[in-house]
Amino acid sequence: MNHPRAGRFALILVLLALAGPLLTAQTTPESFLGFKVGADRKLADYSQITAYFRKLAQESPKIKLFTIGESVQKRPILMAAISTPENLAKLDRWKEITRQLRDPRTLADDEARKLAREGKVILLVTCSLHATEVAASQMSMELAHDLVTGKTFYDSGKVLNDVIVLLVPSHNPDGNQMVVDWYRKYVGTKYEGGNMPWLYHVYAGHDNNRDWFMLNLPETRAVTRVLYHDWFPQIHIDEHQQGSNGARLFIPPFMDPPLPNVQPLLWRSVNLMGTAMAYDLQKHGLSGVVNGRSYTAWWIGACDDTSWLHNVIGILSEAASVRVASPVSIEPNEIPTSFYEKRMDFIDPWPGGWWRLRDIVDYELVLSKSLVKAAALNKEDLLFNFYRMYKNSIENVDRGQPYAFVIPSRQRDYPTMLKMLDVLMTGGVEIHQAKADFTAGGRLYDAGSFVVKMAQPYKTYAWALLERQKYPDLRQFPGGPPIPPYDNAAWTLPLQMGVPCDQVDEGFEAKLEKLDKVPRPKVPDQGKGGYFLLDPRVNASYALAIALLKEQAEVWRTKTKATVKGIDLQAGAFIVRNSPAVKKILPGLARKYDLAVLDVDDIGGLEKAPVKFPRIGLYQSWRGNMDEGWTRYVLDDMGIPYKTLRNEDIKGTKEKKADLRAGCDVIILADESSNAVKGTPPGTGPGGPGGDTPAARMPRQSLPPEYEGGIGQEGIDALKAFVEKGGILVALNRAADFAIGEFGAPARNALQGLDQAKFFCPTSILRLLVDNETPIGYGLPREAAAVFANSLAFETFSPSFDWDRKVVATYPEDNILMSGWLLGEEYLARKAAVVDTKDKDGRIILIGIRCQNRAQSHGTYKFLLNALLYPAQ
Ligand SMILES: [Zn+2]
Repeated sequence: MNHPRAGRFALILVLLALAGPLLTAQTTPESFLGFKVGADRKLADYSQITAYFRKLAQESPKIKLFTIGESVQKRPILMAAISTPENLAKLDRWKEITRQLRDPRTLADDEARKLAREGKVILLVTCSLHATEVAASQMSMELAHDLVTGKTFYDSGKVLNDVIVLLVPSHNPDGNQMVVDWYRKYVGTKYEGGNMPWLYHVYAGHDNNRDWFMLNLPETRAVTRVLYHDWFPQIHIDEHQQGSNGARLFIPPFMDPPLPNVQPLLWRSVNLMGTAMAYDLQKHGLSGVVNGRSYTAWWIGACDDTSWLHNVIGILSEAASVRVASPVSIEPNEIPTSFYEKRMDFIDPWPGGWWRLRDIVDYELVLSKSLVKAAALNKEDLLFNFYRMYKNSIENVDRGQPYAFVIPSRQRDYPTMLKMLDVLMTGGVEIHQAKADFTAGGRLYDAGSFVVKMAQPYKTYAWALLERQKYPDLRQFPGGPPIPPYDNAAWTLPLQMGVPCDQVDEGFEAKLEKLDKVPRPKVPDQGKGGYFLLDPRVNASYALAIALLKEQAEVWRTKTKATVKGIDLQAGAFIVRNSPAVKKILPGLARKYDLAVLDVDDIGGLEKAPVKFPRIGLYQSWRGNMDEGWTRYVLDDMGIPYKTLRNEDIKGTKEKKADLRAGCDVIILADESSNAVKGTPPGTGPGGPGGDTPAARMPRQSLPPEYEGGIGQEGIDALKAFVEKGGILVALNRAADFAIGEFGAPARNALQGLDQAKFFCPTSILRLLVDNETPIGYGLPREAAAVFANSLAFETFSPSFDWDRKVVATYPEDNILMSGWLLGEEYLARKAAVVDTKDKDGRIILIGIRCQNRAQSHGTYKFLLNALLYPAQ
């Protein structure tokens, strides 16, 4: 029989039989979870998401799993590599190629061409860093399934052959679990889809996307290793969500201003990818996509943004939010005019209506797959440009580019300087150390000084972190109010950390050795004398003093400057009496903190006052206050014990009034509005000064009753009694406003009520003059750099008889701005920034700056640390 149809049928059967062993069915997310990804009110938690990825990796040869780190709460951070089985078998080769392309000093153009032809584009996708922005982590399961089953936007064989997709389903797994647990608990109640009363990252909350140059958090460090030490991807997208009512989706191009140090080719590449994604979204009929608005190309502390500075195409996507997994409906008139009218950067407005989690998943699936397609289509170009940008970094001298930054070996706080070097190296920066004295920029530097040369692959990153920022004077119209930056206007690391570091513009010769790791100093055998002294300029001295006090050591602080054994000591030096217990723990602590102590036998000539082990309380509202989280981070990082005080601990109960003085010597109020502390009806959601995305600015829904309110009048009374009985209340930044308003401390905020056209200072670094012979100023330099962010400036006045006040730090008369943007300097001139006030037996310390800003501003930690170790009067 010769029947053409039968013949074709037989052929198909033969082909199917051949393909059979290769085509094991891959479990879909829907069959694994029992619901469709993005279904209303359904969420997979982190354990389900990772279990799904494990299942898929068992079933498909196109996916391989890696654990790239561990979260604060010890959850593994999972990353999937998705490509062809052949590529996955040779991952080391592909990583080696991108590593080589990253360093043109060892590679010629023609070799780079060859490698670009041979190599694969590495594309990193990170999801739902902000844990309430749940869609991307849900979407990641479907994206993985689509990629391994050939549902790509372009020839699936070519796509997976040319691209290695690195997919991190959540780089905040603790937050994912918290948010899903909270959502499930309240689904079907009136609290469904509302805010959690705590941070969705244990320390940072929403600020986990402000940590990407400081690298305090283990989650940040895990992804940073993938980016700049291990895989060297060419493209990195970080998928987020924003407010509900505007555009459905933001993707790049970014908004003005650009950070000037970033390469033009990098921005062109970002724009190419953004346009490719917008094109595919439009093809799929997905409307409401905007670019060029809201998200600037200036701020570098966010996940996708530090990528720019490393010549990696860093992309941000921000989809409109629902209420976690609950749909929202938006009336057309609720859409702001700017997202209602057609513009070239917003060509297809969304009409309004229902908006569901599945919609976000659809947008994110399309944009992610579009990016994979664009990577494949441009493979060789992307890889060669990757090389070309590093070649530019090393060979080109950009406008205003210095030759190097020099960090002198003589430092006020050497361990903090080492920490800064660690931070730079973790971000991939090359650092050299001088083996002999040298001259640079007309100044002599000792052997042992550190040099960060600009001619290095990560030039842009090192440069942007070490230089002083000059934010452009952007106005809404000429002479009009300022256009605020997205977040910080400045971040200069040496200023924030109080580490002297010189920019040297002209080339110089020096005998330099490249460092593989930050050299730890040899801590001498010490603690031999009857006493020893700790330098108050060193932050670690405070950690050590508290650790020793905890073991019942006897500790004093000097009251004046002194010279001991030929060494000049500032006021506030710690004197510790040696004892068998001290001798036992000192060596371990000194090594831990890289700290040398000064042994002495006689302290007779030193004017001193004793300090006690401080029992510290830290107030935590139910508003998820990020500054409280960072304060906890600083205390934990320094090993300083404290207890968390909640509303009921401060208020007491009906049966028992709180006696705060019985349990605490110091109470810290982190930066938080007066209304939030008191519990006056809520305004908006979580988010500190300048730190929130539009998502965080969604109207706050009511919380379950046990989390509503603040400390109330009972709490205010209890705090007042605490102070009068000798307690020390530390009010950080906006909390100082609460302290002034409720307790009548003799100061007022001189910036109150000034509009932005008169005074404007978005997170910037300002000059302070410090009285370092008064206890709260001990150890600080006479002139310090402080982070100003929604901060205060105090006018103090002659108080009534119960009160006294001592101004610790003031703004100078002029030349106040050190880095960033400041309009209306005259409103700060000669005003106080830190005031030590006294009320009966206790104190209220007003710290009107961000002295421990995001655990970055080590240079001003001492204002807080001195309040904890206030000597007896
Ligand atoms: Zn976000």
